[in-house]
Amino acid sequence: MYKCYKDKIVPGTESFSLLPIAGENLLYLTMWVLAGYLLWPVWTPLGLPLLTIIWGVLVVVVQILLKKHNCSGCYYYDKLCHLGWGKISSAMFKQNSGDPNVGMKLSLFYIVPPPAILLTALVFAIIEDPVWIYWSVLVLFITLNVASFPIRKKGCGLCAMRETCPGSAAKSKGTT
Ligand code: SF4
Repeated sequence: MYKCYKDKIVPGTESFSLLPIAGENLLYLTMWVLAGYLLWPVWTPLGLPLLTIIWGVLVVVVQILLKKHNCSGCYYYDKLCHLGWGKISSAMFKQNSGDPNVGMKLSLFYIVPPPAILLTALVFAIIEDPVWIYWSVLVLFITLNVASFPIRKKGCGLCAMRETCPGSAAKSKGTT
């Protein structure tokens, strides 16, 4: 575990069960795929859905880097956290092999792209008036993103890292 986390571990769930882990991973995967669908028609030079291609590469690269820079120094390294990613990290990277500062910057992946994609898709839909399926996917994308907030908060609330993780949604008041 990274030194900066060591003194701030609190009692939490030691190992999460597979069903909620699978559910939360499915939720993220669905949101990423829907985002790719929404970006598909927005910019297609030479007929290529370039934004979707860029998005797909970004998802894969950032997710791998997060497993190194966040998860390799986490309390749940080689354990089943609420996303199961501690196990994935231990299969790919040595313990503490990342940089927590880089990990913190990479976590912007969860904050910046969703509203940017939503805004891009909304502007595209208003200007181009696409088929109803596009609008339905847009509504589903918004719904799942909103639903992900309480789900994330619940997972963070059970996590032993909740008082120290920079991305925790369940810190006690007054904790920095
Ligand atoms: S709790 Fe977060 S940082 Fe720790 S292993 Fe799970 S996903 Fe990675």
